[in-house]
Amino acid sequence: MADRGNDPVVVIGLGRFGSSLALELVRLGTEVLAIDNRPKVVQALAGQITQIATADSTDIEALRQLGVPEFYRAVVAIGSDIEASILTTSLLVELEVEDIWAKAISRQHGRILERIGATHVVLPEHDMGERVAHMVSGRMLDYVAVDENFALVKTRPPRELVGRPLGETGLRRKYGVTVVSVKSEGEEFTYATPDTVLQYGDVIIVAGPIAKVERFSELV
Ligand code: ADP
Repeated sequence: MADRGNDPVVVIGLGRFGSSLALELVRLGTEVLAIDNRPKVVQALAGQITQIATADSTDIEALRQLGVPEFYRAVVAIGSDIEASILTTSLLVELEVEDIWAKAISRQHGRILERIGATHVVLPEHDMGERVAHMVSGRMLDYVAVDENFALVKTRPPRELVGRPLGETGLRRKYGVTVVSVKSEGEEFTYATPDTVLQYGDVIIVAGPIAKVERFSELV
């Protein structure tokens, strides 16, 4: 399969999520066509995104005129107006845009978007809420679920891992998790190896199934 990672992207809806996404794509060197139906929003971003237009994305003719059918990839970043989000996504399907990313504000909204043909659905507020809950409630310094049942966690080493090589701790067998990276005070993150000896004050990145990394980060 061809690598389409740097193909131009249409971003529809330039609220907080869509505008951050569009600007980051530009920063990464990706060509962006940004669309919003509020002229003020478009004006504010015009200097930073070269291809930007005021248009109603629920109007198929407007999308055609902007050349949207020629794009391989699009992001529908309309959240609060669910009707516009669903209509826009279905028009992109009709225009045969192959790779459609859509933002949802709830699981039900996400399910509908998937059913009508969105290739990827993201739930930024929901996911961020879960992530912050893990940080607020436990010893995690950061938390990213990379799949439904797998997470990466930034945390401190529990007492039983300190002072001896990781390879001798039986960590994987005992807790089902892996220490991937380590950062000692005042240093950069580096890969963990079986010879790595953790110290109090280190920060570690641990990977594993969600329930297991949660249990691991409760150890002290
Ligand atoms: P956020 O929470 O990221 O700010 P919003 O859902 O509030 O997201 O913002 C969505 C953006 O999409 C707004 O800037 C809004 O003007 C734009 N938008 C909503 N409906 C349409 C539409 N039919 N066509 C084009 N842009 C739209």
